[in-house]
Amino acid sequence: MAFTLHGLPVSQGIAIGHVHLVSHALLEVNHYHVAPKHIGDELLRLDEAFATVQGELVGLKASATLGQTHSEVGAFVDLQLMMLADPMLIEAARGLIESRRCNAEWALVQQMELVVEQFRQIEDPYLRERQADIVQVVERLVKVLLGHPGHLPPRRRDGLGTVVVAHDLSPADTIGFRDHNIAGFVTDVGGPTSHTAIVARSLSIPAVVGLHHIRDLVEDNELIIVDGTRGVVIVGPDETVVQEYRLRRSELELERSKLNRLKDTRATTLDGEDVNLLANIEGPKDLPQVKAVSADGVGLYRTEFLFIGRDTLPDEDEQYEAYRAVLKAMPSKPVTIRTFDVGADKALNGNHGRVEPNPALGLRAVRYSLAEPKMFLTQLRALLRASAHGKLQIMIPMLAHAHEIDQSLALIEKAKAELRAENVRFNEAIPIGGMIEVPAAALALGMFIRRLSFLSIGTNDLIQYTLAIDRSDEAVVHLYDPLHPAVLKLIGGTIQAGARFGMPVSVCGEMAGDPAYTELFLGMGLRNFSMHPAHILGVKQQVLRADVGELAPRVQRILKMDEQARVREAVERLGG
Ligand code: PEP
Ligand code: MG
Repeated sequence: MAFTLHGLPVSQGIAIGHVHLVSHALLEVNHYHVAPKHIGDELLRLDEAFATVQGELVGLKASATLGQTHSEVGAFVDLQLMMLADPMLIEAARGLIESRRCNAEWALVQQMELVVEQFRQIEDPYLRERQADIVQVVERLVKVLLGHPGHLPPRRRDGLGTVVVAHDLSPADTIGFRDHNIAGFVTDVGGPTSHTAIVARSLSIPAVVGLHHIRDLVEDNELIIVDGTRGVVIVGPDETVVQEYRLRRSELELERSKLNRLKDTRATTLDGEDVNLLANIEGPKDLPQVKAVSADGVGLYRTEFLFIGRDTLPDEDEQYEAYRAVLKAMPSKPVTIRTFDVGADKALNGNHGRVEPNPALGLRAVRYSLAEPKMFLTQLRALLRASAHGKLQIMIPMLAHAHEIDQSLALIEKAKAELRAENVRFNEAIPIGGMIEVPAAALALGMFIRRLSFLSIGTNDLIQYTLAIDRSDEAVVHLYDPLHPAVLKLIGGTIQAGARFGMPVSVCGEMAGDPAYTELFLGMGLRNFSMHPAHILGVKQQVLRADVGELAPRVQRILKMDEQARVREAVERLGG
């Protein structure tokens, strides 16, 4: 019987294929004591497994780094090699074999549980997620110890691909699958930043993660459809459903190649309104993608990625080089660089050494910057220096109070005065803007409009704070509704206030990149959208088909609605 499961869509596209179940070796581990005279043999078994896995990983690393696109994968394999060599794992497992006479598999699993528990205590979500690596390394070792054959699926001859269904997948597993006509990945665990997600995206293979128990619900070779765009998995579909998804898949492929043709077309609506489609980036590494879609500039450079995941902060020169590289790559195009938004789910290493009761409501973004004025000043100096090389604008995140704006502006003045005294060149008239991502800000726009040169609406946080939902908490993800009437009123109000006072407004949260909302935003009066470069051409297509004159009155009516279902229906009709 066919059934459908919903998980997290992490890599777009549709896959139709047969299930290849990857066994979960750790669940099959036996626990027994080794006779004292066999302890030496048991240690040897462990050492041999270690050497085999090390050899496998080194081999995978070599094959991963052959192709540039897999450099991320190479880095993950390195991480696993490091964990394999860590004395906390192998040496400690040896100790358990010697002192407690545990069999090698049992010793490894015990030690793994201990290390995983230590990882769980880590506050930094990125590092915490690395507990998956230690589990994957032990899984590999246990498979070798149990004599499991490698889990590469046979190549199929029926034209359908293979969909790998696993509890979790390591990047190393993923590369191993690379040449085996893999159509999709489906896993029980994982989130949008899990390795499976990152690797699947880099290989352009549709993937859905976080399905909880799918491994227990499907059988090898069963027919399965993976919709990596919607996060849907259909097990055992009948022929009609398969045909429907085949059609959707070819439509998607056609759509992608058609979109590429829009690259050099100006984003103008049917009634002649010009729209700017800008890119969100995390650093100079994203520039090739930005250029590939001919973005109109950078609307959001999230600089915190320069700061997190390292033990020392980047100094002024390092920051200057990164900012300048982006400006140089975008000559004569606007580049909006946001001051570091650290805190909450983007914690710095050793973040003040305090555990925050409620990180999303704690010391993050501008609050953090103002609590660390030296660090903030260093960034402001680097930004001002970079402003001599292009059209740089500085943007401050998560403002809620006038005094936060005033203090930030005072620090910018201080940085300017220092640079003047040092005879360093910078743009005296550099525009300073702020993010509207706290409801309080959207409801008290006057104090922003009076003090700043532009505004950008961060819908990700605006939704989080309006609806009181932690955006990183899987348990409340279903309540995260961009079309909640309260959210739309705050967004619409901000865009309209901007128009009234001649203040440029953009939207740079995920909503801006979703073509389902393009008409809605255009009708609200938005003309600056900033999004992940992968979404620019899709949104451009919507802009080209839109008639703002016709949309505006309909959107005004939507902004007056206060029933979620009615709003949803009306927004869907805008596109039709
Ligand atoms: C937002 O909140 O919408 C935003 C763009 O900022 P970030 O996602 O980095 O918090
Ligand atoms: Mg934000």
